[in-house]
Amino acid sequence: MKLKYIVSIVICLFAVTVIFRQDTLLPRRPKNSSFLIGFKIYPQQHEFQQIYKDSFRPFLIDIQQIGCNAVFFPVYEYQTAFYHSQILPYSNDLAISNLVDELHKSRIAFGIICPVFLDPERIQDRPDLIPIDQNGTDDYTNWQKMVCPSDSAFRKQRLQLIAEIVRKFHPDYLNLDFVRYPCTWEEIRLDAAPESVRNFCYCPRCLDQFQKYIGNSIPSDSLAVRSKSKWIDQNYSTEWVAFKTDLIADFVHQASYLAKSISPDIHIIIHTLPWLPDLFGNGILSIVGQDMQKMAAGDISFAPMLYHDILGVEPQYIRKYLASYSSTNYRLLPSIQISSLGNLDTLTVSEFASALEMAAAPPSRGIILFHWSSLSETHHPSAQTKLQIIADFIRTANSQ
Ligand SMILES: [Zn+2]
Repeated sequence: MKLKYIVSIVICLFAVTVIFRQDTLLPRRPKNSSFLIGFKIYPQQHEFQQIYKDSFRPFLIDIQQIGCNAVFFPVYEYQTAFYHSQILPYSNDLAISNLVDELHKSRIAFGIICPVFLDPERIQDRPDLIPIDQNGTDDYTNWQKMVCPSDSAFRKQRLQLIAEIVRKFHPDYLNLDFVRYPCTWEEIRLDAAPESVRNFCYCPRCLDQFQKYIGNSIPSDSLAVRSKSKWIDQNYSTEWVAFKTDLIADFVHQASYLAKSISPDIHIIIHTLPWLPDLFGNGILSIVGQDMQKMAAGDISFAPMLYHDILGVEPQYIRKYLASYSSTNYRLLPSIQISSLGNLDTLTVSEFASALEMAAAPPSRGIILFHWSSLSETHHPSAQTKLQIIADFIRTANSQ
């Protein structure tokens, strides 16, 4: 009886803690709004630097006038930091610290985007980091040069970098981007056959770690990678997916623990692929290793990149995606695109308005707009109209 009593108290305390934590997960600033709406910005891009080379203040004034309450941006790219770092070489081109200083003075929250396993520079002297697909191919076919996620030294360096960034900038949010296995999802149509999608990583390090994970050996070292991947698929397919998702979730948990040990109020946001579980044989787990259930341990939010135009689908996909998570407790911050890449007019104003409305539907807790520089031609009539739509949307939301 006594044990039952103690267990009941522990369960009650846990429930109270969970409820309390949910309340504290709302954005800290501004205090008059609980719905997060912010822009991703990429200060290293030429357009952004050109427009704000003298001061970031006009940018912040624009953001405040629209009514956004957050911005998200990276402070490093690959192996180069945009600030004085003890870990990476410094690029002097960007006055990123000035932007952070201005943000701390403002009522705008900010998140720092940390691309984790994207690093075309590191592979130059570490070719063993190049991931290998199920057919034994290690070619990069586009700009997205990701590294194999199983290397402990690379993971350690990224964690040290994350700790340094949190300590230096004290962001409200830490956005982990490219925290997954390689997959250029932007180039894959949603109706593509699952077996046509490249699936990583079958490099010697990953296979060695997997053998330890299952406590068994893959039959012969002389087998080609294609044969090994088939053998795993036929004999240990469940364990293989568990191994991959563990590897990604472990990194998320370590980064989250580290960030919170430095800055206890920081919120962690994971950028996830926009794939529903019925796509590519649950490819969100089996191909990219992003298991929301595993990663969600701790207060983690997810920002699925619901870029409908890139996916080649209607904005209704955003509603469908969100509705599929309506019975879960996942904290979702859908990310939507404002314009087609490189062309403001292709994604029409009405299409954008529709995407914005759908991204606000339950269980959404906020919207992350991708991205500011795509509206950099602010004199463009379409850009002006889209900014006005965002401003009207926020005004209406705040008045309800
Ligand atoms: Zn590997």
